[in-house]
Amino acid sequence: MAGVSAKSDGPMSKTRQELLQQQIRAIKNELGENDDDEDDVVSLEKKMQEAAMPPNVWKHAQRELRRLRKMQPQQPGYGTSRTYLELLAELPWKIASEEHEVDLAAAKVRLDSEHYGLSKVKKRIIEYLAVRKLKPDARGPVLCFVGPPGVGKTSLASSIAGALGRRFIRISLGGVKDEADIRGHRRTYIGSMPGRLIDGIKRVGVNNPVMLLDEIDKTGTDVRGDLASALLEVLDPEQNKTFNDHYLNVPFDVSKVVFLATANRMQSMPAPLLDRMEIIELPGYTCEEKLRIAVLHLIPRVLEQHGITNEHISIPEATVELIIQRYTREAGVRNLGRHLAALARAAAVKVAEKEQSVRLSREMQTEMIYHGAQGLGAAAAEADMEEEAMGIREKEIIPLATKPDPLLVDEVVLDTVLGPPKFDGREAAERVATPGVAVGLVWTEVGGEVLFVESTAMLGKGDLHLTGQLGDIIKESAHIALTWVRARSAELKLPVAEAGSLMKERDIHIHFPAGAVPKDGPSAGVTLVTALVSLFAKRNVRADTAMTGEMTLRGLVLPVGGIKDKILAAHRCGIRRVILPERNRKDLQEVPAAILKNMEIILAKRMEDVLHQAFEGGCPWKPASRL
Ligand code: ADP
Repeated sequence: MAGVSAKSDGPMSKTRQELLQQQIRAIKNELGENDDDEDDVVSLEKKMQEAAMPPNVWKHAQRELRRLRKMQPQQPGYGTSRTYLELLAELPWKIASEEHEVDLAAAKVRLDSEHYGLSKVKKRIIEYLAVRKLKPDARGPVLCFVGPPGVGKTSLASSIAGALGRRFIRISLGGVKDEADIRGHRRTYIGSMPGRLIDGIKRVGVNNPVMLLDEIDKTGTDVRGDLASALLEVLDPEQNKTFNDHYLNVPFDVSKVVFLATANRMQSMPAPLLDRMEIIELPGYTCEEKLRIAVLHLIPRVLEQHGITNEHISIPEATVELIIQRYTREAGVRNLGRHLAALARAAAVKVAEKEQSVRLSREMQTEMIYHGAQGLGAAAAEADMEEEAMGIREKEIIPLATKPDPLLVDEVVLDTVLGPPKFDGREAAERVATPGVAVGLVWTEVGGEVLFVESTAMLGKGDLHLTGQLGDIIKESAHIALTWVRARSAELKLPVAEAGSLMKERDIHIHFPAGAVPKDGPSAGVTLVTALVSLFAKRNVRADTAMTGEMTLRGLVLPVGGIKDKILAAHRCGIRRVILPERNRKDLQEVPAAILKNMEIILAKRMEDVLHQAFEGGCPWKPASRL
């Protein structure tokens, strides 16, 4: 053993190294340890060689491998070092999908066959593909699909990947708060890992995929600056040739990746990032569009996924309309797809049960014949047995199995499978049936929504109570609204004003239902005033009218955002009159003409105009002189 421990003075000769390694192996054998770990490292090295890393990375990897060789598997750090080398070996340094020339006609057919409508979006995608065809390394902006969930952002991106003949990978950025999520943690941290980008590249296995940065607007707010700069580095063609992941610690070239992005809303995106993107908006679908999407795309897809066909289930268009109106109230078609899947499952159970009973009856019949034949006791019967069984199967069982009895989905089936309807057209009428309630339109992450503002008065000391998870801005709007109504109680000829102050010995409570959903923003201003005037005047607001707009203390109506989504939401809920700020007139261009045709849009400059339109028979208390 002394020979092993003795240090040699000069560099170790090769034969001496081998001798020592042999001795180590002999010692390990004696100790009962095998050579698995050694073999493991050898196979790792082979994998690394096959990965064809660039020379500088290869040098770095070999250094790390030498370190690993010197370590015992039980030693701390062995595991992390190994995992790191595995990552280096698995990354597609040289592997790329073959790049075909883009076939524009085929891409168009593909987009049309996979997506209904969206003609403007498809046109823009074809333009994008045309530029890539003419100049494959074009450094155009990154396409970013913006819209509520379920409108087809992800599936459009995957169609683009298909058209380019590249692999597709989606990286979810929702909830990413830390720059390290994108760029990785340094290996000195315990539990460190590569960032989502490198991890995505590893998973997809090629270095030129189409990579969808999903929910790019949902990255956390705390360290936005850093996050945005990490993302910018990824998207910047000048910098992304040598993208540096902290964990990887060697540059990786992501310049061949085709980046696309999705976001729910543009407003929350950092400006420098927005600058690098070309925004393509998908506002959501009308009921008619949803019906066509369901019939042409969702139902065939859902049936196929559940292994059933039209012979097993029949969903008439009228039923699809019922699902759209009574069970979903979304801008996209995601829940619609889920409900259709639930119906397909119910049909699948029916089919499976029927098959089982057919099989059982077939077995029983075979058995009966078998026993019958035995009863005959004749040898000939035994020979005929099989034939006879076949005969019966043909005569009786096959007609039973092929005679399909499809599950016809009607209102009753909807009720049993999906439960009682979640919405009905009468909601607005019922809720606005008492004074003090007005219908507002708000903008949320999932598109536009209809929101009811409820107010009530009670004995008290003149306080204003607000509930419904409200942010600061909406609370301020409520105070402005109350002040405005109080200041004009005489002009508005509010009956209670005659008693002196509007708030004398009274408290007002305003509630925004769906208390679990946080709400903020100034666009509820006009709705708040209308609800309060309705409360004090004891008159109902028109149930067919919804409104949106910010109001100043002097009663001017200011423009608000998300007009298109809000009008679509009103339309979905069966509301046919919408009061909007006059200065939002330009936004009406974006609303599909088919929707506008069915709606009455009223543009208001001042709060008095809104009130005049919000009540049946106008607003008799409209003051002659405007302040
Ligand atoms: P998003 O990414 O916007 O949340 P998805 O791309 O995941 O939405 O779409 C949800 C589902 O709806 C997918 O199955 C998609 O194919 C389908 N879908 C959405 N829009 C359309 C459309 N216009 N035509 C056909 N299917 C659609």
